[in-house]
Amino acid sequence: MKPAGRAALDLILPQHVFDTGAPALSPGLSAEAWSQIAFIEAPACDGCGAPFEHDFGVKARCAACMARPRVFSRARAACVYDEASRDLILKLKHADRTDLSGLLSAWVGRAASELLADAEAVVPVPLHRLRLLKRRYNQAAEIARPLARRFALPFLPGALVRRKADTQAGKSAAGRRRAVAGAFAAPKDQRARIEGRRVLLIDDVMTTGATAEACARTLLRAGARAVDVAVVARVREAPPEV
Ligand SMILES: [Zn+2]
Repeated sequence: MKPAGRAALDLILPQHVFDTGAPALSPGLSAEAWSQIAFIEAPACDGCGAPFEHDFGVKARCAACMARPRVFSRARAACVYDEASRDLILKLKHADRTDLSGLLSAWVGRAASELLADAEAVVPVPLHRLRLLKRRYNQAAEIARPLARRFALPFLPGALVRRKADTQAGKSAAGRRRAVAGAFAAPKDQRARIEGRRVLLIDDVMTTGATAEACARTLLRAGARAVDVAVVARVREAPPEV
C-alpha cells in the first residue's frame, strides 16, 4: 500500500499517460478542482458502489441492493456525482475535452481494481448512433479504452448498440427502468467475443443504475457469464422507488 499522500499525488499528476507511457501533467485539472472531488474510498456497497457511512464489512450491500438485487453483479464508482465531478464529466461529454479521459480512466482503474482483476472484456455503455454522430465520440468509450489497454483486456466498443435514444423520461428508478427497457442490443457478429466472459461495463455516471442494468441484461442474454459495472461518478442516494 502506498501512503495516502503519494496515491493522491499519482491521481492529480499521473506519472505516466497510460496510452503511451509518456510522462504527463494533469490535463486541465487544478489542485483546487481536484481537492473538491469527493472520491469514494472503502467502505462502499459491493453491489452498487454507494459509499457507506460505516464499515459493514467486506462485500456488504446497501439496503436498496438487498431489497432488489441488481442485474449486474458488482459496481464501483470513483467519486460522488456532485458539482465538482459533474463539471469534469460535462467537459469530457460536451466540450471536446477528450484529454480528460486518461485522468478519469485512471480514477476508475483505481476504484474498480478488484473488478478489473476478474474482468475478461471491457464494454462501454453505447450512445445512440444519432447522438454519436452529433458528439463524434462516446465519452464512456473514451474512459473504457485506456482502461482496457492498461489492464490488457479486450476492448469491445461494438458489443452493445443503443437502439432507443435516451429520452431522460422518468426520473424515478422505476421510470428509468421502463425508459431503457429494450434500449440495448448485442449484435450477433459480436457475441462470440462476450460469450462465457466476465464483462466489465463502463459508463461515466450512474444515477439509478437503470441504464447499467439494461446493458447488463442484454450482455447476459447474449451469453456473458457475469457483468460488473464501473463508473466515474455516481449519485450519492438513489431516488426513492415509485
Ligand atoms: Zn448498493
